[in-house]
Amino acid sequence: MSYPELDTHFIGGAFGCGGGEVHDVIDPSTGETIWSFTADTKDDVDAAISAAGSAFPGWAGATPAERSKALLRLAAELDGLAEALAQAETSQAGKPIRLSREFDVPGSIDNVTFFAGAARSLEGKAAAEYSGDHTSFIRREALGVVGSISPWNYPLQMAVWKILPAIAAGNTIVLKASELTPITTLMLARACHTAGIPDGVVNVVNGPGRTTGEALVGDPRIAMTSFTGSTTVGRHIAGLAASNGTRVHLELGGKAPFVVFDDADLEAAIRGAVAAALINSGQDCTAATRAYVHRSRFGEFVEGVADLMDAARLGPTRCEDTDQGPLISTQHRDRVARMVDVARAEGARVVTGGRTPGGSLDAGAYYEPTLLVDADQRSSIIQDEVFGPVLAALPFDDDEQAFDLANDVRFGLAASAWTTDVFRAQLAGRRLQAGTVWINDHIPIISEMPHGGMKSSGYGRDMSSYSLEEYTQVKHVMSELTGSISKPWHQTILHLDRAPDSEPAP
Ligand code: NAD
Repeated sequence: MSYPELDTHFIGGAFGCGGGEVHDVIDPSTGETIWSFTADTKDDVDAAISAAGSAFPGWAGATPAERSKALLRLAAELDGLAEALAQAETSQAGKPIRLSREFDVPGSIDNVTFFAGAARSLEGKAAAEYSGDHTSFIRREALGVVGSISPWNYPLQMAVWKILPAIAAGNTIVLKASELTPITTLMLARACHTAGIPDGVVNVVNGPGRTTGEALVGDPRIAMTSFTGSTTVGRHIAGLAASNGTRVHLELGGKAPFVVFDDADLEAAIRGAVAAALINSGQDCTAATRAYVHRSRFGEFVEGVADLMDAARLGPTRCEDTDQGPLISTQHRDRVARMVDVARAEGARVVTGGRTPGGSLDAGAYYEPTLLVDADQRSSIIQDEVFGPVLAALPFDDDEQAFDLANDVRFGLAASAWTTDVFRAQLAGRRLQAGTVWINDHIPIISEMPHGGMKSSGYGRDMSSYSLEEYTQVKHVMSELTGSISKPWHQTILHLDRAPDSEPAP
């Protein structure tokens, strides 16, 4: 598959090529180059920010209904492109086609539809006379030009999560996609143009983080930086943004615990754990990575998970039967393999997987579904993000220990608890330190509800009306009501109404 109709960036409604080095986009299931582009330079980023700045007054001044209608047209446009988007997402990110068709693309379109509605629903607190002599009211206003940076694991969805709340609230945006997966973000930008969203409202640039990304984050015209990616890069970006005093929104890494209590429906937990560990080859910030299982059910759980992992089919990404595709690159696959090897060397036992499959999949970045036991809670395989199809299972003896172990990492993006006891379920909702806690499930997300992290998983929320609010600023307007020239508070400053012959106090 090639993409002759695309070019490096989409700025002010037109494609153009960047002035930097050539980058290849590789299909990780085959190792073949599917597209090449020349990276955007600081000048290209500068042009994109200028285009977004010029488009801002008109777009911010449009009525919510006008913005909403444009977003509904975008949803219809994407609907028409659904199969092309799914094919492109599968090629550049190595996703099984079922995942692209049934999760990435429909989820993205639903998100566009949600924000088309949300654009008309921004509301504030009641206006009132808090001082007695003034009416106070709140305006929620757009910020200006948003600079966004997105990762490679869900390229289209992450671009939508960044772009839609920003423009629904009246901002304009420049987004840099991951240099590994720029294609569907460019298709999305073109769809914005075709849908009649004014040129310059949505601009996409491409290139590496260190050059193109830092040019975007470091520009003082950016009113807000919103970033989804690793915790390390997120912290670096927050530092760059701080030097300009720019507002920052961070969606970072995860290390989700999956807690199985002794009263859980074990069959449901086993299926849930395998699906949640293998989704997108484990390259999902909310993927189940650490299963804590009550000691009385531990053996049964490990056996069931291993059997189901063994049954998962690795294969070509376009094959309808494939359950798990490759990782994003051979470099990343080798990093995952090294982390498993280190865990093994430190005493963890590989129950299943722990190797590359070879054979007909040798040219791709494949890694087998992997289950580990006997890892130390303090070891890297438990504490650090692996971002691959690797689940570690550890036993616990009582509820308090389960919550303590689950919370004993620096991340706090997602967690799940598996129990049939309603009180335990409620307690888990309170005790687990994560932006999303599932009870008897793990992974589902919905446009109406917020997604985001606690602790080192970042701050800020994607999706939902919480996200829309983050792309606005609150202004207090205070309007004097009496029309009186003499205001009581003036006397505190000027004492204008003192008697003419009174002496100043000594
Ligand atoms: P990454 O941090 O390596 O890169 C993310 C983006 O940042 C890319 O576009 C990259 O080019 C850019 N970048 C890198 N260095 C930069 C710099 N110095 N300045 C500006 N931009 C820079 O992350 P990744 O490997 O693309 O994605 C995987 C990570 O994303 C995982 O840690 C995963 O947990 C996280 N993630 C989080 C969420 C969430 O919602 N919290 C969602 C998806 C992915």
